[in-house]
Amino acid sequence: MTGTTPAADHVLVLNAGSSTLKYQLVDMADGSRPARGVVERIGADGGPADHTRALHEVADRLAADGHGLDSPRLAAIGHRVVHGGTTYTAATLVTDEVEAGIEALAPLAPLHNPVNLRQIRVAREVRPDLPQVAVFDTAFHATLPQAAARYAIDRGVADRYGVRRYGFHGTSHSYVSRATARLLGRAVQEVNVIVLHLGNGASASAVRGGVCVETSMGLTPLEGLVMGSRSGDLDPAVPLHLARVAGMSTDEIDRLLNNRGGLLGLCGDNDMREVVRRSAAGDPDARLAFDVYVHRLRKYVGGYLAVLGETHAIAFTAGVGENSAEVREAALRGLGRLGVELDPVRNAVRSAGARVVSADGSPTAVAVVPTDEEWEIASQTWQLVRG
Ligand code: AMP
Repeated sequence: MTGTTPAADHVLVLNAGSSTLKYQLVDMADGSRPARGVVERIGADGGPADHTRALHEVADRLAADGHGLDSPRLAAIGHRVVHGGTTYTAATLVTDEVEAGIEALAPLAPLHNPVNLRQIRVAREVRPDLPQVAVFDTAFHATLPQAAARYAIDRGVADRYGVRRYGFHGTSHSYVSRATARLLGRAVQEVNVIVLHLGNGASASAVRGGVCVETSMGLTPLEGLVMGSRSGDLDPAVPLHLARVAGMSTDEIDRLLNNRGGLLGLCGDNDMREVVRRSAAGDPDARLAFDVYVHRLRKYVGGYLAVLGETHAIAFTAGVGENSAEVREAALRGLGRLGVELDPVRNAVRSAGARVVSADGSPTAVAVVPTDEEWEIASQTWQLVRG
């Protein structure tokens, strides 16, 4: 029997967080996912000791499912890397030099880039022959004009220390802005979209004809919207004030703003489902948390309508954006004069697919568009490997 070699059309996507390693095997021929999962509690009790062990666990699970890392169908591995700085403005084939580049950017993302790099190194040890691609969270925002990217501080200091706005969640903003154009039946070059990625982390972006021109996260993923446990925007003097009057250290302030802020800081819950439930039951703290969250979101929507001038669509995505009709309604209530008219019945319908939830004739369409960061990472990896 003459066996035919199966086509190498699988891309493995690896997405490492500080204590988790998510993986998805993507079949580029039909978009299906032959395997997916997450290794959790890395470095904690009951979990793998470190990311090296976690990746070996992923390899074991894949092998048990008949998709071992030695499979001839595996064409490439796509790695999510959080910070590409100004060096990496597109998906990049990993070489030793690129590894060094990612390492050099660690001061800009101390919790993430070292973990991403470790994952890349282990994967390259296991399959040195396989193309591995780094897909950066910041890359989609590399097109921000200087007016949006610059902070108004001393330019010498800013340039010396790389202090500027980079933006994050780029693979999601990229995927959702294009999926929104598809949903409207238009070419991406023809439409201006505001993408509201509202998950545990949250960010907004303004995308003009497929090109990102503004986004809410900045030097780090702390700036912008109110998030599950991150404060988002505040007066930059707040940390200085706390250091002076409360004697708080940099690390304490970091935790206050990044881990104990947002919905969690305001009402003790970081899950929007719980905030909405408590708020509906009359809990004043949860009500305040919801109101602060929505007020900030409305300020960004209004700001981005002005940035874009003409806006064809506002797209909600990620856990809160896809599931919370309450947040969508509160964020866009009363914006008819600005051309945004939500349809309350469509907005309340629950569905897994991309859908329009604005009224017929609303000059700006409102859409719910499920994000698919793994598909975006796999596609960018595939394009680079297959041309
Ligand atoms: P993500 O980071 O995209 O996985 O989003 C996670 C967040 O989505 C959770 O922390 C929840 O707050 C939120 N979420 C998920 N389902 C719902 C829902 N039905 N209503 C409101 N928020 C939700």
